Amino acid sequence: MISKCAYCEVNVSGNSEHVFPKSLGGQNIYMDCVCNQCNNNFSKSERELFQKSLVGLMRSIEGLEGYSKNKLRPAPLKFSEIFQLDIENQIVYEVGVHSAFKHYLRPQLIQVEDKIYAESGSYPEMENFVKIFNEWRKEDLVLITEFPSRNGEKYKCIQFVLHEDEFLIKKIELIKVKKEAIYYSLLKNNKKIAKHFMPRIFLDDSGKLIVRSRKVEEGIQFIIKLLTSIHKGKGQFKNFTDKNLNDPVHISMSFDVKMMQQALVKIGLNALMHYYPETKYNQLLRPAKNYALGGESIRAGLDIKVPILDNRQDIHSILFYQLNEGIMIRSALFGGSFTYKFLIENLFIFNQVGNVSGLIVDFKNSTQNHYIMDDFLFNLIRDTKIKE
Ligand SMILES: [Zn+2]
Repeated sequence: MISKCAYCEVNVSGNSEHVFPKSLGGQNIYMDCVCNQCNNNFSKSERELFQKSLVGLMRSIEGLEGYSKNKLRPAPLKFSEIFQLDIENQIVYEVGVHSAFKHYLRPQLIQVEDKIYAESGSYPEMENFVKIFNEWRKEDLVLITEFPSRNGEKYKCIQFVLHEDEFLIKKIELIKVKKEAIYYSLLKNNKKIAKHFMPRIFLDDSGKLIVRSRKVEEGIQFIIKLLTSIHKGKGQFKNFTDKNLNDPVHISMSFDVKMMQQALVKIGLNALMHYYPETKYNQLLRPAKNYALGGESIRAGLDIKVPILDNRQDIHSILFYQLNEGIMIRSALFGGSFTYKFLIENLFIFNQVGNVSGLIVDFKNSTQNHYIMDDFLFNLIRDTKIKE
């Protein structure tokens, strides 16, 4: 049966959208009423929620794997800036944080004073880094400095060109970049460590090489120095000795609050439309749907942790609560560590004010169940250990 997408109500729906996100440990249960375009749209806001916000932090602590490509390092924390300052030597390294908050040195080439050093948490990771770096060297030596902000715009890039034993740079613009191209990232947030921050190239969790420095020019000069060393046969880089991995890790979070909230509203709406399919095309859902798609604000906000509802650390819950004004949808992620609610005005899904139902997602076992009234409360409370 062909049906219209419940969000845009224009396109024909596909079926690739999870009712509850797999990235948060949801089961493989799909919506039958979301089109590919809306689904793509949602993945942008979900990235803000799952990878960059506090929820990303919780995912890493709980060891939720998501879609990490790095098999050695499951459940990576995908914040854009995670560093370790080697206090003794005043060197800032790129580090990663994975499964339940373990940190490790990312494979990287880093400039310290006038020399370049090779660092890595493990030998296989350094090998992988070198392989990807060499693939880049065999290609057009393109460094992406700016991504297109809109469809149809071009990538701003720097190309390194060998000319009589010297590497020169060319500024170019591309419609499409090859997968071997490397990315540039400016040091943005960590002002404290900025004065010790030397240019480097490192491998991130998605298998991309990234050049990072305080100024673009600094990063470009570093790459020229690196390419020149290799070209002149001085491509064997040593480790910098005496790293102390117990030094503090500096993490900086930066995310788009609106996009994060759009993702939260979408998660609530998906659950509502899936468990109450009669609401799918109800126009009372329109403001919330528009918000999820990037539109005007609705009545929504963070909620506090409520002991009776949020007493199991191993679950997420979505509560549907009938008020006089409409349906309150409350999502409590990671046992209420992160809680968000919004109202669908004038919607009645129960015949009595005060009635509730809810979805419980056991993210460790990847199961989800929808319970009505007493069963919902019973299942929330079940297995709760009473501390003595
Ligand atoms: Zn759609």
